[in-house]
Amino acid sequence: MADATINPISAADITTWDYEADVVVAGYGIAGVTAAIEAARAGSEVLVLERTGGWGGAASQAGGIIYLGGGTPLQKACGFDDTVDNMKTFMKAALGPGTDDAKIDAYCEGSVDHFNWLVDAGVAFKETFWGQPGWEPPYDDGLMYSGGENAAPFNTLVDPAPRGHVPQMSGKTTSEHGAGFMLMTPLVETAEKLGVRAEYDLRVQTVVVDESGRVVGIVAKRYGKDVTIRARKGVVLAMGSFAYNDEMVRSNAPKIFGHPAASIEAHDGRAIQIGQALGADTAHMDATEVAFFCDPQLMARGILVNGRGQRFIPEDTYPGRIGQAALFQQDNQAFLVIDEAAYEEGVAAETKTIQLRAQPKWVAETVEELEAEMGLVAGALQSTVDVYNRHAAEGSDPLLGKNSEWVKPIGSPVAAIDLRGRTGGFTLGGLKTNVNSEVLHVSGEPIPGLFAAGRCTSGVCAGGYASGTSLGDGSFFGRRAGISAAR
Ligand SMILES: Cc1cc2nc3c(=O)[nH]c(=O)nc-3n(C[C@H](O)[C@H](O)[C@H](O)COP(=O)(O)OP(=O)(O)OC[C@H]3O[C@@H](n4cnc5c(N)ncnc54)[C@H](O)[C@@H]3O)c2cc1C
Repeated sequence: MADATINPISAADITTWDYEADVVVAGYGIAGVTAAIEAARAGSEVLVLERTGGWGGAASQAGGIIYLGGGTPLQKACGFDDTVDNMKTFMKAALGPGTDDAKIDAYCEGSVDHFNWLVDAGVAFKETFWGQPGWEPPYDDGLMYSGGENAAPFNTLVDPAPRGHVPQMSGKTTSEHGAGFMLMTPLVETAEKLGVRAEYDLRVQTVVVDESGRVVGIVAKRYGKDVTIRARKGVVLAMGSFAYNDEMVRSNAPKIFGHPAASIEAHDGRAIQIGQALGADTAHMDATEVAFFCDPQLMARGILVNGRGQRFIPEDTYPGRIGQAALFQQDNQAFLVIDEAAYEEGVAAETKTIQLRAQPKWVAETVEELEAEMGLVAGALQSTVDVYNRHAAEGSDPLLGKNSEWVKPIGSPVAAIDLRGRTGGFTLGGLKTNVNSEVLHVSGEPIPGLFAAGRCTSGVCAGGYASGTSLGDGSFFGRRAGISAAR
């Protein structure tokens, strides 16, 4: 559907400005609040424009995991060694192909400083490590593995270190009352103390450019009326992903079409389109995070097979990696095959994701009967289990490298959980920015006056994903956007 309101407006056509500030930030989630803080600290008058009735965005609903490392005080307190080089090696291997290595280098080199910055701003982390397979720690522990660092193939590439840093919060409920709220609350309080102002119920439509092509303002809608906002120094776009824009998802990331997850309806891609209308470049528009709706405590204890009854991934890895493999490479066909003893053990284990504990769909005494009930080709699952069990008897998984801790021969009775189609996700691609969060024109030059961060940009993830990289790069490059805009 044509939408002329996306086109930039000439400053010469604006007769009055309803609001004014040095730096105007669009969107009051994680990228927006961090940009606002840094711009205010640099001496700028800052105004944040937010479409909904309050601050928070997806970040407030999030599990709160922030991907940090290179030897943060929390990693050290929990007894883990990590180095900047190991973090870089892991991120470049796991988050590609096609990572922006300059961004990853800056992110890893600045990671310890960024952790300290968050702590100084009031974000609290409990110095305890949660080491079970899972999406999030069930309690208020501060550190966990969140990207498959301790699983194959990465544990053979580089020494693993947990980098999922989780703000402390008790009584968490995913999507309602998550640790992301404990990240956003002190940051917004910090911004308010610095004098950052916010205007709510104000939906950013497009930007205003002067005769030189510099971005000097924003036009927004409030209750159907146009509102004009002048930005004396710069505009920061921080309006989230395009996961809820059906047209954009269908064109760019069709595998998650109809299944947005871990995002909010306000993520409608508007910031990306505003940039594109100015000639901005984009990157990795096809990349998506993929949630896989199954409890990792169960997956680690069974074997995941595809529609041909074959294993395709070490089951103890990061569940988001399992989701990507199932959706992208296995046509969304996945089953968890697990024996009764392992199922009972998994159900008794601690988890945050109790709602993801699906019931088995088929149960049988033998694998032969099970594969027949599942409608698999005769012998397919049997040969998979034969190979797995042969090596599991010695506690190893030479085929896919699952850690011996989770490798046990599959016995009887045996069940299969139907995980076909149990994926959803959010988009990772967006505006192309440099390490200073300047939005880049297709020519490669920065667009004067325009900065961006968060999921409306392409950040550290080009294809792969690790939990915490969104709040991580959103806050890290959000800060840089604020600093650059205030300059
Ligand atoms: C349940 C859940 C769990 C998650 N868990 C994690 C996790 O543990 N770790 C992690 O890294 N990520 C997690 N995520 C993802 C993460 O929250 C987001 O990717 C991240 O918040 C993106 O940051 P952002 O600043 O780009 O967007 P947001 O934090 O969503 O902020 C964008 C803001 O812009 C506003 N906005 C949008 N359009 C307009 C407009 N036109 N005008 C004005 N304002 C506008 C939105 O209302 C919103 O407030 C989770 C998300 C959810 C929902």
